[in-house]
Amino acid sequence: MADYIQAIRGMNDVLPHESALWHQVENSIRQTVHSFGYDEIRTPLLEKTELFKRNIGEATDIVEKEMYVFNDRNGDSLALRPEGTASAVRLGLEHGLLTQGVQRWWYMGPMYRHERPQKGRYRQFYQLGVEAFGVMGPDIDLEIILLSQALWHNLSLQAPLVLQINTLGTSVGRRAHKEKLVEYLNQYRHELDEDSQRRLQTNPLRILDSKEEQTQKIISDAPKLSDYLDDEAKAHFDGVCTGLNALGIAYQINPALVRGLDYYTHTVFEWVTSELGAQGTVCAGGRYDGLVEQMGGKSVPAIGFAMGLERILLLLQLQQQNLSQSADLYVVSTPGAARLYALEVTRSIRLQFKDWRVLTDCGDSSFKNQFKKADKSGAKWAVIIGEEECAGKSVTIKHLRDEQAAQAKMPTTELFVFLEKLRSC
Ligand code: ATP
Ligand code: MG
Repeated sequence: MADYIQAIRGMNDVLPHESALWHQVENSIRQTVHSFGYDEIRTPLLEKTELFKRNIGEATDIVEKEMYVFNDRNGDSLALRPEGTASAVRLGLEHGLLTQGVQRWWYMGPMYRHERPQKGRYRQFYQLGVEAFGVMGPDIDLEIILLSQALWHNLSLQAPLVLQINTLGTSVGRRAHKEKLVEYLNQYRHELDEDSQRRLQTNPLRILDSKEEQTQKIISDAPKLSDYLDDEAKAHFDGVCTGLNALGIAYQINPALVRGLDYYTHTVFEWVTSELGAQGTVCAGGRYDGLVEQMGGKSVPAIGFAMGLERILLLLQLQQQNLSQSADLYVVSTPGAARLYALEVTRSIRLQFKDWRVLTDCGDSSFKNQFKKADKSGAKWAVIIGEEECAGKSVTIKHLRDEQAAQAKMPTTELFVFLEKLRSC
């Protein structure tokens, strides 16, 4: 093991050759949410532990096992944010925004969960979160799903993503279902896995989520939430399904898709891929009509989703997208006066060709090595400035991808005409 201090397990660096893909993904996300009229919010990475404990729920994996919690110097218990919805609602309440009509928000940034790191699952990971407040739906449910679908399109994701949806109904139906579920599961309590036995007291709906084989067998005959849907719940879900059909968005109804907490209502959905093993969910969302009230505000309907950026990047990498950004021009020069002249010419090129990536060789590499670096940079053309060119205020240009092409020397003023031609073809 090296004797320098290394990064924390499950917390990744973004390396220079990786940042281009991150930018591409982030830019595409910004453009998409902007086009839907959503505004960005930014909340601190740290919040009071209580915010997450109370509002994500004591009996969830996040709060039970995954949160980074510590006491600060004042002895206050703080937590690194494990997700963004609780913070978004806190922000809305604190600034009185949730009573000011419909709110459409997004945020993007790192989240923290102490999980077992593996491909697609990290301890620091990035999420895009989208939340809409103040609309009962189902039209806003459709808008949110359309937004997520637009992301896949704008990101040019080729991997097939499947939309799975379900309804959790209203709190009335869920209460009735919960009662019957507990009654049923109690008959098998000693056959359930340890976590599920505990959840029978704390959060029985979460048992439906269990991955344990024996528990799953018991669940398969358990009372189904779909049998407890009231008319309001059915109408809402019908509205979502009819809308998806009309919009030509394919979906699968997955009755096993649940959220354990009482404030979740109606629609839940996930976009799933089969290409990332157990980390196949790239985006998960749903309605949480009860949360704002639970957090101390008036009752405000709400829906949102969160998407994991690393999982999207993994899919894009699988697509073998070009990870490193190619240069447009590479400037090769002799150290000394010619180098200074090269820097001057490059400055003018960058001023005129603002979207180009222009690299100037620095240091004292030989011409041979400079050309090797030019080749690696991906640039198609090199601009060469030796002592002779410097003295005559001229440059030589060389096509780096065509061995047959002759070099051409020209006055620097003509270089700009030449580059303009390159840009327009
Ligand atoms: P999973 O079942 O994969 O643990 P989750 O239900 O905990 O996911 P959510 O809390 O709904 O996930 O978060 C939404 C999205 O954020 C996930 O679909 C995933 O893309 C991403 N995500 C969640 N946890 C991680 C993590 N530890 N590392 C990377 N991405 C994650
Ligand atoms: Mg998780």
